[in-house]
Amino acid sequence: MTLHATPPSRADQRTQPGAAFASTPDSRRAAPLRPVPAARANRRHVLVVEDEQDIADLIKHTLERGGDIDVELAASGDAALKASSEQPPDLVVLDLNLPVLSGLEVCRILRQRTATATVPIIMLTARTSEGDRVMGLDSGADDYVTKPFSVRELAARVRAALPPGRAG
Ligand code: CA
Repeated sequence: MTLHATPPSRADQRTQPGAAFASTPDSRRAAPLRPVPAARANRRHVLVVEDEQDIADLIKHTLERGGDIDVELAASGDAALKASSEQPPDLVVLDLNLPVLSGLEVCRILRQRTATATVPIIMLTARTSEGDRVMGLDSGADDYVTKPFSVRELAARVRAALPPGRAG
């Protein structure tokens, strides 16, 4: 895994929403303005809740590689609840085994809040027993991935579970 391979230029372009139109004088040809590519106009916000920094960084790097997802990391349940109330995410990847507040408790609280009641939640768990899987799904998670997991598989599940994008 190489964490230094992502060029910063894409992020820089994103921060200038007016740039696509700035150089087109009104009085020239009536050619239609070139639309902003959908991937940039409709970026998705994914909250990843994982206290193991290496795993969190790997998930963030993999999800953001496609250029259409922004990942916010939270290293604890408290941080996740704070982040999700400030900016409700489009999807949550939630580790079951967190210190203090467990993933199950975080999941239940997210479900009780109006802003995140229906947000897709994919749970990460090191446990493989049927009882724990059922408990995770009962708490409101939509899907789960058992550790050790393939980060590419997780990314595919995230993309499959993201709700359809709003028209940009
Ligand atoms: Ca953990």
